[in-house]
Amino acid sequence: MFDEEERLKRKIVEISRRLYEKGFMEGTGGNVSAKLPNSQIILTTPSGVCKGYLSSSDIVKIDYEGKIVEGKLKPTSETPMHTSIYKARPDINAVIHAHPPFCTGFACAGMPIDSSIFPEAIVMVGEVALVEYATPGTDDLAMKVSEAAKMHDALLLQNHGTVTLGASLEEAYLKTEVLEETAHILLISTLLGGYKSLPEAEVKKIKLMVGRK
Ligand SMILES: [Zn+2]
Repeated sequence: MFDEEERLKRKIVEISRRLYEKGFMEGTGGNVSAKLPNSQIILTTPSGVCKGYLSSSDIVKIDYEGKIVEGKLKPTSETPMHTSIYKARPDINAVIHAHPPFCTGFACAGMPIDSSIFPEAIVMVGEVALVEYATPGTDDLAMKVSEAAKMHDALLLQNHGTVTLGASLEEAYLKTEVLEETAHILLISTLLGGYKSLPEAEVKKIKLMVGRK
């Protein structure tokens, strides 16, 4: 049996591989983190390596100030973004930042993603925030992202990519997947003459059914 820390490290490796294989994290892009239960310790993917081929010994342990607690590699360059999200959202245990191409296309066009077009998106990702551009890895980006994360579990970073939050790594992963599916569907329906959002009453009804605000 593995302890909770090793189990989480292995789950980060698995989720990172799935994100890479989906084409959501090309090159050395993207990062995944998880919080150790009832602590202020974060496990994160390392900086500057492809996320498709990690092993659990590559995962870096940091504290809420971004200081390395344990690990042989450098933590993600987006450490300030991850730590600031955990500080802003004590209910969150996992954060994923990726560059899924359809979402990132919307982000580069400065177009918001309207999740009220189909029920799965309303249930899984909720309202998507569009976060103003800031240089990757900076405190400025961390500030803008954590502010938007107070009210949203799915964020689109202008000219950059996506951030999804979850109570678990699996939940954060599924949000990235459904967010990308939503962007893909939005693009196709736009090409087919324009998408039609579900009526507000229906969106409300669906939100009520799953207890989403
Ligand atoms: Zn990025």
